[in-house]
Amino acid sequence: MLNVPPQAFPAPGSQQRVAASGRAKVPLKPGRSLMDWIRLTKSGKDLTGLKGRLVEVTEDELAKHNKKEDCWICIRGFVYNVTPYMEYHPGGEDELMKAAGTDGTDLFDQVHRWVNYESMLKECLVGRMAVKPIAAPKEISSTLSEEKKQLNGMLSEKGVLGASAKDLMLSYDWFQTDSLITIVIYTKKKDLSAELVIVDCQDNRLRGEIIIDDHSYLVEVDLYHAVQEDLAVNITEKIGKVEIILKKNDNIHWKMLGQPMENHNTFIKRTDRGLFYRKCKLVSKTEVTHDTKLFCLMLPKSTHLHVPTGQHVYLKQIIAGTEVVKPYTPVLPFLPLDFKEPSCRDGAHIYLMIKIYSCGPFTQALEHLQVGDYISVSNPEGNFKKSQVQTSEDLFLLAAGTGFTPMVKLLDFALTEVSCLRTVKLIFFNKTEDDILWRNQLEQLALKDKRFEVKFILSQPTKDWMGKEGKISSSLLSEFVKRSSKYSKVLICICGPTPFTEQGVQYLKDLGYSQEEIHAFTA
Ligand code: FAD
Ligand code: NAP
Repeated sequence: MLNVPPQAFPAPGSQQRVAASGRAKVPLKPGRSLMDWIRLTKSGKDLTGLKGRLVEVTEDELAKHNKKEDCWICIRGFVYNVTPYMEYHPGGEDELMKAAGTDGTDLFDQVHRWVNYESMLKECLVGRMAVKPIAAPKEISSTLSEEKKQLNGMLSEKGVLGASAKDLMLSYDWFQTDSLITIVIYTKKKDLSAELVIVDCQDNRLRGEIIIDDHSYLVEVDLYHAVQEDLAVNITEKIGKVEIILKKNDNIHWKMLGQPMENHNTFIKRTDRGLFYRKCKLVSKTEVTHDTKLFCLMLPKSTHLHVPTGQHVYLKQIIAGTEVVKPYTPVLPFLPLDFKEPSCRDGAHIYLMIKIYSCGPFTQALEHLQVGDYISVSNPEGNFKKSQVQTSEDLFLLAAGTGFTPMVKLLDFALTEVSCLRTVKLIFFNKTEDDILWRNQLEQLALKDKRFEVKFILSQPTKDWMGKEGKISSSLLSEFVKRSSKYSKVLICICGPTPFTEQGVQYLKDLGYSQEEIHAFTA
């Protein structure tokens, strides 16, 4: 069937060959490459012969279009006129003809399940198969028993890259009741946590991104009809099922979910997925120290986003007509002193502790942001993995200035959820006493939790300072970073100005700590 991975396209005139997938490829005529096909689809030519109309296709109607010069194929409930595509198909005409006038979904899945036919054949879309009522799956019935259910039979395929990703077989489905639209994404990933699911619905465009290791799966469609602002996301962690529940604006029956966007239904490396931003409202700005403020940003009601521990987001502002982006690491509204329960996060707010520099263009613009103003906030990024802490017995946090920010959630996580931890020590470098962030809270925490200890080190103290003075050095580190026992498992996290972090890492290595025992927070 439609085996059209771009990397597998033969050069015009090449002989039949077998691609990595094992499928035979045929030589394509000159002028029939992928780029030629894309050009044709963008030419405005009527490729369906229906003058832009979409029709509902019955099985009988589909069966009539079974010849090369008039060939319709159904894939996942959508019917395409593939006649104009015949000569461009790398698998050859005969391959396509196997599904002529029928439902080719299975054949397609056997070959290249991940190929994004929806975008490849967008201009060939004839319409949908006439919907046959199908009984809703049991689990759906139980959650929405009082509402009328209908499954529309639209289950999409995906663009999957990478061997491990293939095995995951991600897919999505959707169904509706009188008042709700539910999109279900099956990741088949065990222990799928809320942090791995990012959903936005803006201007009737739904975007759901699921992070699976270093890959990202995306569902992105312009919805067929209007929905209300708030949405709900239910995650069944054990089986990796995600339900996105939207409220219809009007109680009308939707014929389709909507128009797929270009990257809809793709599973690609996370790093290849562009950063997505949503506008967040500044709800408060409170003083932390003389130059540092806690910004509380409210996510839109139509956003589901939890920034994972150790990760940062990007803020975007237009400064003097230029778009400027800077990273910031979300913290908690305060240090929870009772580290018994995982700290409650409402999921509606993001807290950022930001130092305002008198000659820093970005932070000066932030300083001028008023409560009620909006700012663009990206999806999270970062390579810290909680599992690094989960197996540790001794955790050392080396922070300089606002390098303290990733340590906040890390402290919370470590003291709340990591039972094997014996010691957690924060070594906090600042210029002066006035620069120490959340000093009182840290001291109170040290009094409350026997496992936690904090050490303040000042590089420019006043004469009154009774504590430690200095800068990061081998001798300071050998004094404060010590294993609680000879073989205890250690993790040392370090964050601050780049030279501070780089020097720190080098000193630690010189002291005999391995690469695996050190995590440096960088951009
Ligand atoms: P900049 O123009 O970057 O200047 C900042 C200061 O450095 C000023 O005093 C300026 O005079 C000085 N400076 C600039 N360039 C030079 C130079 N070449 N040589 C010497 N001095 C120079 N910051 C926070 O406050 N909170 C956070 O949570 C946070 N998280 C971060 C997460 C990551 C992953 C990274 C990489 C950085 C993070 N930062 C954080 C820093 C933040 O991204 C900005 O760099 C910071 O806010 C300064 O931006 P600015 O444009 O206002 O100032
Ligand atoms: P700061 O107040 O200027 O400095 C904090 C402490 O670090 C001071 O004791 C300072 O000593 C020392 N220090 C500064 N530069 C040093 C260097 N080159 N070598 C050794 N020690 C040094 O710090 P800040 O203004 O808050 O800046 C915090 C930095 O952390 C920013 O660069 C920010 O980008 C970074 N940050 C990174 C992340 C991340 O995830 N990657 C997150 C948050 C913040 P002196 O008296 O010698 O200056």
